[in-house]
Amino acid sequence: MKNFLSNEIARLREAGLFRTLRSVGSSDDAEITMDGRRVLNFCSNNYLGLADDERVVAGAIGALRRYGAGSGAARLISGNFEIFEELESELARFKGTEAALLFNSGYHANIGVIPALAGEGDVIFSDELNHASLIDGCRLSRADKVVYRHNDVNNLEDLLRKSPLPRGERAVRKWIISEAVFSMEGDVCPLEDLIALAEKHDAIIYLDEAHAVGVLGAKGNGLLEAPHPRVISMGTLGKALGSYGAFVAGSQELRDYLINKARSFIFSTAMPPSAAGAALAALKIVRNEPERLAQLRKNIKLLGSGGARSCFWRPLAGRQNRFEAPGPDPSAIFSILIGDAKKTMALSKKLFDEGIYLQGIRPPTVPEGTSRLRLTVMALHSHDQIQQLLKGLEWVPKN
Ligand SMILES: *Cc1c(COP(=O)(O)O)cnc(C)c1O
Repeated sequence: MKNFLSNEIARLREAGLFRTLRSVGSSDDAEITMDGRRVLNFCSNNYLGLADDERVVAGAIGALRRYGAGSGAARLISGNFEIFEELESELARFKGTEAALLFNSGYHANIGVIPALAGEGDVIFSDELNHASLIDGCRLSRADKVVYRHNDVNNLEDLLRKSPLPRGERAVRKWIISEAVFSMEGDVCPLEDLIALAEKHDAIIYLDEAHAVGVLGAKGNGLLEAPHPRVISMGTLGKALGSYGAFVAGSQELRDYLINKARSFIFSTAMPPSAAGAALAALKIVRNEPERLAQLRKNIKLLGSGGARSCFWRPLAGRQNRFEAPGPDPSAIFSILIGDAKKTMALSKKLFDEGIYLQGIRPPTVPEGTSRLRLTVMALHSHDQIQQLLKGLEWVPKN
């Protein structure tokens, strides 16, 4: 056992892939205390700055006082507090759907919903850059998986056309799985085209809106602004909404089905009620204070226009390891392609020493040879802080 662990750790270190934790001693703000130092935080997904908003914190405290710290059991046992159903109604309203169902996290949602819907004999068409939790959900489903080139609708259509004929007793069901905003790249999926293909080939789309909720859409309700019968939308509460947990939005029937079939829902203690209290307060702020989203968009624009001169990139749809300067995609995620893992981590450390925290992202989170510095901008960042970042990046290699 000891040899196995130390050999594997040595191998990871050698490859520049060994990960360690850094501790944060302050709330998730534009500036944080990390490993005892004050640094500018360009790594958080707290896009709207809601995680430490006092009303969101008060929402959590209210729920904590009323329901206690822990849920004590799964929702199907004794853990179904009223506040969860209240939050589900608000989320359904937010997404314009009939119903919504909470999950304990985005990871739980993806590994629970995908296997509940897709099964042996089905075919899942999955974007090559999909998040690990989507990949794991596909694996658990036992469906056949066909990987299509990133955001490449022509490639997807070819593969859909070639997909197998029904086997055995029932017709093959087809599923298309994509992120709305790709978490490590920041580009947006071509949802209209995916819907057209889904209609043509009788498929259902499972759309992971983790980085789109609160950020995209006229009212910040995501890429799928109005419900569509071919799309199941999943979103998280832990990113722009500043809390913790996730949801799936759709029909009442979908909700009933998932309560009965999604194993990560059935067999896990319900999320703490305080997380639901925080999310309810956050949703209210998103609805009533559109100026937060406007500020986020201003910052995205400021950073994007500063970066286009220098080093930002996004993947070229359908072309593996080919990149372009970021277009008008409205997400809050930017990347600087470095390539080599060790070099990426050395650059991240150099920036940290200068007071700017940008995490280096390495395989297996991203494909081999595409290690990068990934940065996110929040509504909380001031003009000066963004200028400071751009100045700090001046020496980073240009593409
Ligand atoms: C963060 C993320 C998840 C996981 O959500 P958690 O609530 O953090 O577990 C799932 N999918 C995507 C695309 C993500 O970025």
